Amino acid sequence: MKLVFATTNPHKADEIREILGPFGVSVQALSDVSKRVPEPKENAETLEGNARLKAIAYATALGMVCLADDSGLEVEALDGAPGVHSARYAGVEGTRAERDQANRNKLVAELETLGAVDRTARLVCTLCLADSQGNVLFETRGAAVARVVSEARGGQGFGYDAHLYLPDVGKTIAELSAEEWNARSHRGAAARALAEWLTKNAR
Ligand code: IMP
Repeated sequence: MKLVFATTNPHKADEIREILGPFGVSVQALSDVSKRVPEPKENAETLEGNARLKAIAYATALGMVCLADDSGLEVEALDGAPGVHSARYAGVEGTRAERDQANRNKLVAELETLGAVDRTARLVCTLCLADSQGNVLFETRGAAVARVVSEARGGQGFGYDAHLYLPDVGKTIAELSAEEWNARSHRGAAARALAEWLTKNAR
């Protein structure tokens, strides 16, 4: 089974490849495909909606089965924010690293203004697989629970990782190896559900 994972984020492409590879699924990144497709606007109101619109747009443009994701961080004390706005929470332009840094700073600042609140957060990943006709073949959602800490720790990963503490291992996500994180990540959970579906349904 071969599919294109429609992401421009190299961290995500590596994660999905490592998880689906052992199931015999070969994952191509957009950069492996010669045809260039204009990036669709992620203007849905939910993570599921954005994953669906990307999967359909890329699958129909490329004429290939495409997987797309949308992910974000939902913080209970912030009523689920930044959620679908996670990538641009601070509203800053610039490189991915600059935007991520501004988003992390804003998250910590918002929580600090609330004082001693429960800092439980959930990283959520939605995946959508569509065929070249634009039919949705499969959709799923995976989640990973962590606690937001004010002090950044660790150099792995991206996004909010350095502020997401996992009490049972005593580390932030940014302090875990890729293998440790894949085994319990939101994307890992969603990708394993997809792998199971592909095992039963792909020809
Ligand atoms: P998107 O799915 O690329 O639109 O990602 C949305 C945003 O959610 C990213 O820019 C990150 O800030 C955040 N995010 C998604 N997945 C992760 C993760 O595994 N760790 C940390 N932050 C993440």
